Amino acid sequence: LAERLQGTLTKIRGKGKVSETDVKEMMREVRLALLEADVNFKVVKQFIASVKEKALGQEVMKSLTPGQQVIKVVNEELTALMGGEQSKIAVAPKSPTVVMMVGLQGAGKTTTTAKLANHLRKKHNRQPMLVAADIYRPAAIKQLETLGKQLNMPVFSLGDQVSPVEIAKQAIEKAKEDHHDYVLIDTAGRLHIDETLMDELKQVKEIAKPDEILLVVDAMTGQDAVNVAESFNEQLDVTGVVLTKLDGDTRGGAAISVKAVTNTPIKFAGMGEKIDQLEPFHPDRMASRILGMGDVLSLIEKAQTSVDEEKARELEKKMRTMDFSFDDFLEQLDQVRNMGPLDELLNMMPGMNKKGMKDLKVDDKQIGKVEAIVRSMTKKEKQDPSIMNASRRRRIAKGSGTTIQDVNRLLKQFEDMKKMMKQMTGMTSGKGKKRGKG
Ligand code: GDP
Ligand code: MG
Repeated sequence: LAERLQGTLTKIRGKGKVSETDVKEMMREVRLALLEADVNFKVVKQFIASVKEKALGQEVMKSLTPGQQVIKVVNEELTALMGGEQSKIAVAPKSPTVVMMVGLQGAGKTTTTAKLANHLRKKHNRQPMLVAADIYRPAAIKQLETLGKQLNMPVFSLGDQVSPVEIAKQAIEKAKEDHHDYVLIDTAGRLHIDETLMDELKQVKEIAKPDEILLVVDAMTGQDAVNVAESFNEQLDVTGVVLTKLDGDTRGGAAISVKAVTNTPIKFAGMGEKIDQLEPFHPDRMASRILGMGDVLSLIEKAQTSVDEEKARELEKKMRTMDFSFDDFLEQLDQVRNMGPLDELLNMMPGMNKKGMKDLKVDDKQIGKVEAIVRSMTKKEKQDPSIMNASRRRRIAKGSGTTIQDVNRLLKQFEDMKKMMKQMTGMTSGKGKKRGKG
C-alpha cells in the first residue's frame, strides 16, 4: 500500500499546480491501493468521497503547493479514519480496573495480556494481576503463567476444571484483597466465531463488569479482521482494539477499516513477539507510515503546527506597512524555533525563491544571543528602534551579556531583515493571489 500510494503521490508532488484531472487520477489510484490492501470497500468509498470533497473545496495554504495540499487532506482523512487521536486505556474510578481480552485463537490475546501488564507497570506505574481464563486451549494456562513469571507478576488460575465465569469472579475478589489496580483477563478463542464461545464471553462480561473489553485482532488477516471485529463488537460491545503483528508483512488494511467499521478505537499495536513490543497506537503516525511521504509530510506538519495562520497574516500586514517591531521579531523567533532550522525549512519549501535567500544565513546558535539582546530592550526601544542612541546600545549590551558590536550588528540586520521580509511578502502574496483565482 505504502509503495503504491507513494508512487501516485510522487507523480503529483513534482508539479506546481494540480488540475482536476490530476485529483481524479490520484483518487482512482488511492482507491485501488486501499482495495488492494484489503480495506473494506465501503470504507474506501467513503474515504475517497470525503477526500475529494475536502480537497476540491479547500484553499491552498501559502506554504504548500496544490499537490501538497491534496496530500495533506489524504493524510488527515486517513488519520481520522483510524480514529484521529491516540486513544488511551480505560481507568476505573474505583480500583481495580478490569480489562477483558477477547479475540480469535492465535490472534495474540495471551501474549498481549502479558505485554499490556508490562506496559501498565512500566508506563503507568500500575500493579496488574493476570487471570488465566482460557481453560480450553491446551497449555494456555501454562503459557500465561510462564509470561507472568518472566514479568514477575502474579497470575491467577484455578486450573482447567473451573468455569471461566467462576475464575473471573474469584480473580477480581483476590485482586481487591491484594490491592491490584488492574485485572487483565485472558479468555479463550476459537478458530472461527461460534455461539458457544460468545455465550461464555457474555457471561464472563456479566460477572466481571469489565471497564474495558479489548478485542485482539491479527493485522495480517486483512479483510477477515473486519468481519471478526464486527461480530465481536455486535455481541460484546468491545471498547477498544489491539492490532497485533503489525511488525509482519502486513499491508495495513485492517488498521484502516477496523475502526471505521466498528467505531471502536485501536488502542495498541503489537510490534513483535517480545514482551515489550506493544505500543500505543497513533493514528497519525500510522497514516504517515502508510503514506510514507517523508519530507513533504513533515513540512506540512511544521507549517501547520508552528505557524498560526492568523498571526502570520497579521505579521505580513505589519511588514508591508513597515510597522514591524522587535516585539514581532521576538514572536517570529519563537515560531522559527518551533519550526526548526530556518534554512532547512526553506529548503523543503517548493518553489521558494532561493536566489533571493542566499544572503540570509541563519545560525541557530546566534538566535540565543539575538534573543538576549532583544529582551534587554525596553518596550519603547522594541517598538521603535530608531531611538537607539549610543548609551541605550551600551546598556543593552551590558544587560544581555553581549558587546556593543553585537547590538549594532543586530540593529543593522533587523533593518535588512525588514527590507528582505518586505520583498518576501510581496513574493508570496503575489503567488497566493494567482493560486486563489486560478
Ligand atoms: P491467542 O491464541 O490469541 O492467545 O494468541 P497468542 O498470544 O498465543 O499468540 C499467538 C502467536 O502470535 C504467538 O506465537 C505469538 O508469539 C504471536 N504474536 C502475538 N502478538 C504478536 C505480534 O505483535 N507480532 C508478532 N510477530 N507475533 C505476535
Ligand atoms: Mg491464548
